[in-house]
Amino acid sequence: MNPFTLELDQVHSPTEAVIQGRPAMLFGTNNYLGLNFDPTCRAAAAEALEKEGTGTTASRVASGSYSGHVKLEREIAEFFDRRSAIVFSTGFQANLGVISGLAGPGDVIMIDRDCHASIYDGCKLSGAKIVEFRHNDAADLDRLIEAEGVPGHRVFIIVEGLYSVAGDMAPLPDFIEVKSKYGACLLVDEAHSFGTCGERGRGVAEAQGVERDVDIVLGTFSKSVGVIGGFAVSDHPAFSDLRMLARSYLYTASLPPPVVAAARASIRRIADGKDLRQRLWSNARKLYGALGEIGYDRLSEPGPVIGVRMPGFVKGYKIWHTLLERGVYVNFLIPPSTPGGSVVLRCSLSAEHSVSQIERAIEIFSECWRTIVEGNPPKPVLSAAT
Ligand code: PMP
Repeated sequence: MNPFTLELDQVHSPTEAVIQGRPAMLFGTNNYLGLNFDPTCRAAAAEALEKEGTGTTASRVASGSYSGHVKLEREIAEFFDRRSAIVFSTGFQANLGVISGLAGPGDVIMIDRDCHASIYDGCKLSGAKIVEFRHNDAADLDRLIEAEGVPGHRVFIIVEGLYSVAGDMAPLPDFIEVKSKYGACLLVDEAHSFGTCGERGRGVAEAQGVERDVDIVLGTFSKSVGVIGGFAVSDHPAFSDLRMLARSYLYTASLPPPVVAAARASIRRIADGKDLRQRLWSNARKLYGALGEIGYDRLSEPGPVIGVRMPGFVKGYKIWHTLLERGVYVNFLIPPSTPGGSVVLRCSLSAEHSVSQIERAIEIFSECWRTIVEGNPPKPVLSAAT
């Protein structure tokens, strides 16, 4: 079975599917809040589908915005308490468009080494100089900016809020200290933390109490929001003008009406979603604690993403495959997507996982550890001689 070309035969809910003909619990889908099956979000999508059709067939600049696009942008800006928002057709395109629209030749972009491919590609597209600093290391960032010797207004710092492979968070206050020292611009991609972190779900910057010091927040609708799309928000008065510079906004079709309607309903639920976040985090703590007790090498603190380092490719694959055979679907990740060249199993939690699903998954993780890592297959139970 190839983990990179896997087909999900049927998906029944945020946490249940049939894969390769067998029932599987989904622990590898970034479906943190389960809102892709939320009745209100589905009803909003269905109504928009009926009223406005399946797609817009054109870009907003060429053919105009639907009122839903404009309302969605207003609501996202309000959600983040920012002056303006731009919605893109994916999070990947948001990163491409914002980064390449803002930075250019002569600028320097300081990028955390573990940032997502879309951030790297946006940087490359900009023509700016790219300097990678050690993951989550503000002292390294400081040293490297100093060494560049360029004026602070030409320096962009890009980090993620919650990293999607190891599941660790950026120490934003440390980065903000460096940003302020040089007068640089700080962009934070909250793709995995939007909806999952912070009192109101606004991300790691909210959780760490530093939202006002982040210049631009980027994010996606493809995880907690449960649809597809990307966005960026900022307080900069001219931020909205960026849409005329961002080629991934200008030259691609806008989001379909059902997606826009579901995203709007979903963001309302997220704003009001303390209950969902509590369930998500309680599930995360439970699985995280158990994986540690079993012996798995966890890459970070507890959170919605739990990355565990595998003892090499062969055993890692075997564990991934056996988990799936026994009904637990997680992600099998290899370099270059993983930090430090390691092989990683990534589990993502959902508010919709039931306690019994978490407990069953823990049992299966435990069996895999015993049989594959420790090499102790379970002993057959011999019935008493009659
Ligand atoms: N940024 C980060 C940090 C991501 O993890 C991802 C997707 N995995 C993206 C951006 C791209 O988002 P989308 O799926 O909406 O293109």
